[in-house]
Amino acid sequence: MSDTERLVKQITPKSEDFSRWYVEVIQKAELADYTPMKGMMVIRPYGYAVWEHIQRLMDRRIKDSGHVNAYFPLFIPESFLKKEAEHVEGFSPEVAWVTIGGKEELEEKLAVRPTSEAIIGYMYSRWIKSYRDLPVLYNQWANIVRWEKVTRPFLRTTEFLWQEGHTCHATAEEAQEETLKILAMYKEFCETELAIPVIDGSKTLREKFAGAQMTYAIEALMSDGKALQMGTSHNLGQHFSKAFDIKYEDRNQCLQYVWQTSWGTTTRMIGALIMAHGDDAGLRFPPNVAPIQAVIVPISVGNWKDTVLPAARAAAASLKAAGLRVELDAREEFTPGWKFSEHEMRGVPLRIEIGPRDVKSGQAVLVRRDTRSKIPVPLAELTNHVQAVLAGIQDGLLREARKFLADNTRDAETYEELKDTMENKRGFVRALWCGDQACEDRIKEGTMATIRVIPFGAEHGERKGRCVSCGRAADTLAYFARSY
Ligand SMILES: [Zn+2]
Repeated sequence: MSDTERLVKQITPKSEDFSRWYVEVIQKAELADYTPMKGMMVIRPYGYAVWEHIQRLMDRRIKDSGHVNAYFPLFIPESFLKKEAEHVEGFSPEVAWVTIGGKEELEEKLAVRPTSEAIIGYMYSRWIKSYRDLPVLYNQWANIVRWEKVTRPFLRTTEFLWQEGHTCHATAEEAQEETLKILAMYKEFCETELAIPVIDGSKTLREKFAGAQMTYAIEALMSDGKALQMGTSHNLGQHFSKAFDIKYEDRNQCLQYVWQTSWGTTTRMIGALIMAHGDDAGLRFPPNVAPIQAVIVPISVGNWKDTVLPAARAAAASLKAAGLRVELDAREEFTPGWKFSEHEMRGVPLRIEIGPRDVKSGQAVLVRRDTRSKIPVPLAELTNHVQAVLAGIQDGLLREARKFLADNTRDAETYEELKDTMENKRGFVRALWCGDQACEDRIKEGTMATIRVIPFGAEHGERKGRCVSCGRAADTLAYFARSY
């Protein structure tokens, strides 16, 4: 057995056991690792680099749309959390509490933030006085703790990283506009940077954020046919402004409660990148968020150190100068074949091979991670070709994911059809729903599928017919799926 084969054999093929593949590829590629504390993971440098690219690209969008970053405390007094009744009810099963500080028992216990509406709402009530103070458009990058029973790296962990936006507006219309503007921004981000197409729309009341008036979400389909919520945007109405007394004086000197929104995306997006794009050989990162966009592997034969290595170094220098994230893998203890499979497993979008014959003819061979196709290009024009091929890979992954989404979205008219698809094919099922929560519950119980999203325009839309669950007249089209 060659050493290449040995490395590949270490990962369970995705097609064989998706769950095992997911966990193994995370550990073998050194994205994250388990710790002795249940449900808590370490994000290792290679995984954290992905998060840094996501952060950078998301932060730019948040700021370009007029928001500013701030930072609020990790701890929230119990009395704050209790102010909004639905909020505390929704979150209390998963809150971690601090009861002792140093050696002293605290007079009031402190929640480790499960989300920050309460502490931010309290501060907003002190800062906002007049219509001139509005809108307030804040975002926070922070860690969050939710005491989860069942955990999975990146998808559901006790502690995770996220950004949370919290805004205040003078009118209901402005708050609704902000809620939808952010959802559209998230959708564009997922498609442009992560190469993951999403379905956008509203959540049902059953699935909405605890304390929100209305929750909107984007949902993506993972390659095992389960849906993953990629981001949410909530219209909070005046629920929190009334609970925290956030009032402003309007132009007529009348006191009004503000209208609020909150919205977030998390490190779960890394889990989505793994599950949406990975294959039997490992990860496939889209170039825009890949820690390493291209790896140069010199073919180490003969007197390669005198011929190939200088050419590889020069190539690396010129690609780096053009702003590309490039690594030269000149390690002597590994064969080129071993390196090929390792970088494939780690999802590096492009491999650049340079051997003695290539140097003689002044070329390099580009090998795409997504299609495995090999493209010989002149060394003198390497940068242009690499940039173009990386753009092609970014597009290619999105196209592939769009096709998968289309191929795995099916319509169902009856409960039996819905159940059959969930049991045998998974994916999204589009079906009409009467709006009754009892039907939602029955479907969840019988098929393990929930309404992921009601697409825009499909609530009381053009499609009329019978509810997939009860058979009564229905005109709300919903996307059902099993989900993470
Ligand atoms: Zn029904």
